[in-house]
Amino acid sequence: MPEVIRQLPENVANQIAAGEVIQRPASAVKELMENAVDAGASRIDVRVLDAGRTLIHVMDNGVGMVEADAKRCFDRHATSKITSADDLFTIVSKGFRGEALASIASIAHVELKTRHTSDECGTQLNMEGGALAQETLVAMEVGTQIAVRHLFFNVPARRNFLKSDAVEMRHVIDEFHRVALAHEAIYFTLTHNDSELFDLRPSTLRKRVIGVFGSKYDERLVPVEESTDVLGVKGFVGKPAFARRTRGEQFLFVNQRFVKHGLIHRTIMNAYEGLLPPGQYPLYVLFLTIDPARLDVNIHPTKTEIKFDEDQHIQSLLLPSIRRGLGKHAVAPSLDFDQESSLNIAPLPKDRVVAEPVVQVNTDYNPFQSKAASGESSGGSSGGGLRPGRGQMDAWKSLYEKAWQPEGEVGPVAHEEHAMQSSASGEVGAQLEAGDEVVVKQRPLFQLQTKYIVTATKSGLLVIDQHRAHQRILYEELVRQLEPEGAPAATQQLLFPAAIDLNAADQLFVLQSRDWLAKFGLLVAEHDDGVEVQGMPLEADTTPESLIQAILEERAAEVAGVSREERVAARLAASMAVRVGKALKPEEMVDLVDRLFGCSTPALDPFGRTVIVNFESNELEQRFR
Ligand code: ADP
Ligand code: MG
Repeated sequence: MPEVIRQLPENVANQIAAGEVIQRPASAVKELMENAVDAGASRIDVRVLDAGRTLIHVMDNGVGMVEADAKRCFDRHATSKITSADDLFTIVSKGFRGEALASIASIAHVELKTRHTSDECGTQLNMEGGALAQETLVAMEVGTQIAVRHLFFNVPARRNFLKSDAVEMRHVIDEFHRVALAHEAIYFTLTHNDSELFDLRPSTLRKRVIGVFGSKYDERLVPVEESTDVLGVKGFVGKPAFARRTRGEQFLFVNQRFVKHGLIHRTIMNAYEGLLPPGQYPLYVLFLTIDPARLDVNIHPTKTEIKFDEDQHIQSLLLPSIRRGLGKHAVAPSLDFDQESSLNIAPLPKDRVVAEPVVQVNTDYNPFQSKAASGESSGGSSGGGLRPGRGQMDAWKSLYEKAWQPEGEVGPVAHEEHAMQSSASGEVGAQLEAGDEVVVKQRPLFQLQTKYIVTATKSGLLVIDQHRAHQRILYEELVRQLEPEGAPAATQQLLFPAAIDLNAADQLFVLQSRDWLAKFGLLVAEHDDGVEVQGMPLEADTTPESLIQAILEERAAEVAGVSREERVAARLAASMAVRVGKALKPEEMVDLVDRLFGCSTPALDPFGRTVIVNFESNELEQRFR
């Protein structure tokens, strides 16, 4: 047998490595920019021609290289950044594999000009197909300039595989963004075919993000910052209203390195739970800092994937800090309104016992039905407050009276523990004194087109969709009743139970769901050819048939992440919520607004539709220009 195994020539090995490291012009842009960052540059100029096909030029004012290093930097595994494997665990530089320049030089024509801080003049090297073609002395500023021409000139397969200039340029811009976002203190520019695309001066992170995405993003950003001994997170997440159906605005950096990490992405998405309809992605630009010893960046040649020792730890820091950030910005009111609130209606604790402050004659009121219901109705934390059962009236009355007592005699308001109000009624504003949060002594509220509730806040104007708001409130109350300790919803016993014919499968399903349906106040029993509805949720504004029908529809539907019970709760909430066209009294509006802001997700109804529109005062001011 003839021998067949040979050592590959160095250049071929480099070309193979290049296949992994340099997939397209954008990869070269990334590697060269990262080298410039590693060299301590404070200014980095990137210029490309034809989306990088013809030329990629990266110029920096970093430390530069002495002549010997300049020659060595194109060798495979030539790096100044680590000397032993142990160093891998303390990596703070972008590069360390020593592959980028070797790879690039093997598949392009490279001209390197570099001058080290300790030298009077610089070195120019011209590389062709991985070999040194020419060396000269040059006069230049301290720093490094690398021009990469004719990328993939000797790898036609790669060249043919490239997409249109527009697509390739998109990739170049993406890589440029990733580096620029992670280093707001460095001055970056990007020029394509002589048009300057970005001129990013050193700035704060917020300004850098706006510089990258555009000034429209200023109002979309919600700051996040939190740290523990081992871990820190800072950056911005986007307001849910600006989430998109497509990905592309999600940036996660670990120790200033852009990474992709499925678990962290899911954690961030979880923080938005209930704030976004399915299939939408919020913007985020988040920076994790973590002891390098705790992570392994070495699992992928382009280093965009990493492994952590402690995923758990990261999740438990990230999720609450994003929630808090969103909460502070009124996107999802939370209990921590300690700073920077743009909304001054004090949030209410989730478990607050909701009083029913409504004086209103229920025209649908049926004395017989109600009497039958009184045994079941537990009042207190039950369903909606707009058409309360009888038992709830007394509770409301006493609260109502309290609220009208002169200031000072009103029940205590928690100052530290965020404004917690004991009542929901007329002059609620007078009671809320939690620091600066509440400036409105008497909350102005009015109804618009018997559809919206309009109210002023410290920073502008809120317009609330009454029907959707009530749906959200009822939905959360219903879902709470599903919890083991949740008290069942008030039921209105039907004087004449409604028999509903169902096929065997539907019948079985409804009967199997009996227990949790009862928690919603829907009482069903077995019946010859179907079921019998014996009690309806107190406020259900629909027939027993259509409720059962809705439940059966939800059985068929499959929605990821939302249980069938929750979907039925949403249906019920929709049927119970106050309608558009219904005039609301001031106290009803106050109640609705208060309860809405006691919800965990006030901004969206159970179907993901907008409940609240916030007009910031600067928006108003702009209109008056
Ligand atoms: P790595 O970044 O993984 O070390 P590279 O192939 O990208 O490998 O670069 C090899 C070496 O060349 C680097 O370790 C660094 O010492 C030197 N180098 C590359 N680019 C620059 C630059 N812009 N300024 C100064 N030194 C550089
Ligand atoms: Mg490098």
